[in-house]
Amino acid sequence: MARSIIIGGGVIGLLSAYELRRRGRDVIVIDKGNFGQGASAGNAGWITPSLSAPVPAPGLVAQSIKWMLRPDSPLYVKPSVVPGMLGWLLEFWRHCNVEKYEQGRSALGMLNRLSLRDFDRLAEQGLDFEMHSAGLLYVFRTEEALRAYLDDLAHWEEFGASEPKRLTPDEARELEPALRPEIIGGLLVESERHVRPEKLLSAAEQWLRANGADMRAHTEVADLVIQDGRVTGVRVKGGDVIEGDEVLLATGAEAASLAARAGFELPMQAGKGYSLTIRNPKLKLGRSMYLVEGRVALAPYDGALRLAGTMELSGINTNLYEERIAGIRKSADLYLTDWSDGDEIIPWVGMRPMLPDGLPAIGRAPTIPNFYIASGHAMLGVTLGPTTAALIADLMTKGQAEIDLTPFDPARFDRRLAAARR
Ligand SMILES: Cc1cc2nc3c(=O)[nH]c(=O)nc-3n(C[C@H](O)[C@H](O)[C@H](O)COP(=O)(O)OP(=O)(O)OC[C@H]3O[C@@H](n4cnc5c(N)ncnc54)[C@H](O)[C@@H]3O)c2cc1C
Repeated sequence: MARSIIIGGGVIGLLSAYELRRRGRDVIVIDKGNFGQGASAGNAGWITPSLSAPVPAPGLVAQSIKWMLRPDSPLYVKPSVVPGMLGWLLEFWRHCNVEKYEQGRSALGMLNRLSLRDFDRLAEQGLDFEMHSAGLLYVFRTEEALRAYLDDLAHWEEFGASEPKRLTPDEARELEPALRPEIIGGLLVESERHVRPEKLLSAAEQWLRANGADMRAHTEVADLVIQDGRVTGVRVKGGDVIEGDEVLLATGAEAASLAARAGFELPMQAGKGYSLTIRNPKLKLGRSMYLVEGRVALAPYDGALRLAGTMELSGINTNLYEERIAGIRKSADLYLTDWSDGDEIIPWVGMRPMLPDGLPAIGRAPTIPNFYIASGHAMLGVTLGPTTAALIADLMTKGQAEIDLTPFDPARFDRRLAAARR
């Protein structure tokens, strides 16, 4: 039986291992920490095809420069890291125009169209995790933001979402009485769902353990072992080699260094985000909610409420800055009354894996035929987890995926390879 090594045990790595195991592969999953403790743990868990827009968007250049001066802003670029990530920022800013934005949106829409179906498939196959299907309520405080979202959401069919319903402020407050009178309206997308991400991850991990996967936590991959142009294994910190027939890189925000070892450039940065989880909250929301101008996501779970948000470019680290947490709280106060009452509030920080065009890298490495990548899912790693896993597992086992993966080509940023291909 062919042996697949999966580096990284976040939502992408664990679900890819699940799909590979179901297709008959012998799998080894390696994570430098515990499984599911990276970006995949404390996020909002939204499954939201209606949010198919890539992060780089028209108008974001001016806005991000303005926000650079405000450490509590929804998108913060730490000035001291700018010199070190100038190349990445320039490439990101180059994608902040209408043409690239629309291209990115239709590529993400192509993946998102499959996401609800693929979550249903996991549930039908018996993975037991907490999933809520009461929709997503977008809440607005300004007409300008509402108009921008109406433009994007006009493509709801293309994304596989249901038609957004426009709500007056009273209608929105009827659904969610904690909303403040200052809101100017809402959009309800009934097809949207959310999961408790920790439960999805532990269900996948348990299934893998029960089905013969070799699960290696606290094992950091330091290098690839490459012989005659093929990867034959990975070298872990301490020097041991784990052998395999193929390798999948699913290390999220930290994917750049091992991609470089495979001989190509993958310009990955961390878009840090924060969440606050309230245990036994007093506020009982009926559905997940997006506080649009404040860029705060809310997700109600069994016995908990999570608020998540902010995008901080401050390098690859999980340092937690109090100003960012304060920014989430301040934004929530503008939309909601008494949201913070509960037994305990648990802060968390995670690194969204960000490529400068806002699309993930899903596919075969350009340099090594048995080395594959599935990383860079930015704000959509949970939404796109099951779909990405099925696509990459099909590519690895059958040589072909259900959809054309060209927009997600891992080699698309490597100028040297692009020049060589011309
Ligand atoms: C605040 C916040 C809210 C979010 N909300 C949502 C949401 O509602 N819906 C949604 O779809 N997405 C959301 N996201 C995005 C989502 O969390 C990410 O896209 C997703 O978790 C990325 O998964 P991953 O498996 O690629 O990376 P990770 O979960 O980070 O997993 C990568 C793993 O690789 C391991 N690793 C790294 N280097 C090595 C190495 N050398 N050797 C071994 N192991 C290694 C790490 O330890 C880690 O466990 C949110 C993110 C944040 C920060």
